[in-house]
Amino acid sequence: SEGAIIDARDKEVEKPKDFKGVWIFAEQSQGKIASVAYELLGIGRKLADELKSELCAVLFGNSDEVQELIKWGADKVYYVNSPDYICLDDELYSKTLVKLVNDYKPEIMLAGATAIGRSFIPRVAAKLRVGLTADCTGLEIDKETGNLLQIRPAFGGNIMATIVSPNSRPQIATVRPRVMKRGEYNPERKGEIIEVEPLKPSGRIKILERVEDTSFCKVNLQDAKVIVSGGRGIGGPEGFKALWELANLLGGTVGASRAAVDEGWIPYAHQVGQTGKTVCPKLYIACGISGAVQHLVGMQSSDIIVAINKDPNAPIFNIATYGIVGDVKIILPLLIKKIQEG
Ligand code: FAD
Repeated sequence: SEGAIIDARDKEVEKPKDFKGVWIFAEQSQGKIASVAYELLGIGRKLADELKSELCAVLFGNSDEVQELIKWGADKVYYVNSPDYICLDDELYSKTLVKLVNDYKPEIMLAGATAIGRSFIPRVAAKLRVGLTADCTGLEIDKETGNLLQIRPAFGGNIMATIVSPNSRPQIATVRPRVMKRGEYNPERKGEIIEVEPLKPSGRIKILERVEDTSFCKVNLQDAKVIVSGGRGIGGPEGFKALWELANLLGGTVGASRAAVDEGWIPYAHQVGQTGKTVCPKLYIACGISGAVQHLVGMQSSDIIVAINKDPNAPIFNIATYGIVGDVKIILPLLIKKIQEG
């Protein structure tokens, strides 16, 4: 009250020492392990190697693909093989993961920022009384302290914040799908599968029916190898015709910036970015998109980025592999014609 500056960090608390290893939660749906699990193994392997520790996966429910987790980089899999775990049960999942963490004390725990991860991982963090950084787009080890640097967009995507949990373990983060790259696949890789005794469900949650969400399947943006994306510079809904033509020629699909979606030129399912989808195609062609940070966080890990923009100073050119300065209305038909000619 007298103007003193209070350092909120509790300096008395020391970093717990007996926590070791990097864990990833491998979610599955109807026995199929989600792609994000393999992406988490990719980054998890890197972090574990830097910390000179082991990488473990946790798998709940029944899956024939459990060995795949080892081939994609896990040293061990903690496997709760029980029909009670096939569908997400927040209470059961969080209780079981908390028990595993208390028994084995991992230093880092990663999960997908998916409907499943977003639902039960905060409960795990709350039960363990540790922090959680949601929706990370980058993870690194601080060389000096060994702490996990958890990087994510903040303040509406205007800055990239680096968050650290120096005094609590495990350090828990959820990671957006399609941001991290898969690691190396080695079919000869050997690891250990540890069967874990399932807990009893409380019975308070009952799955009555499973209904597939088909609206997302139609667009299939996240699996596309080529995405031709349009922004405000496309000029209107009719401008998207050329984008579809180019996408079809290249065997891809069409994405959009939020500006184009907000204008009502294309449905939200096509939106790429912070409040849309995160994509990682082999080729991303950005047409009439300025390159706002909220758009970039959704597509910057694409292998090749081609930007077409009439403004040579548009920020999209800072991350583009190839840039074309010009009017999309002129460039796109030329590009389509050239590809059609072979
Ligand atoms: P603009 O920024 O208006 O850029 C249009 C570009 O087109 C300009 O660079 C211009 O030079 C170029 N151009 C114009 N005419 C032509 C032409 N004829 N030929 C070639 N180039 C031309 N945005 C997203 O995309 N995805 C998100 O998920 C997202 N989430 C957000 C979340 C929050 C909390 C906030 C605050 C914003 C979010 N945004 C998101 C919005 C983002 O900040 C930008 O406003 C948006 O990405 C801009 O879209 P744009 O590049 O299409 O339009």
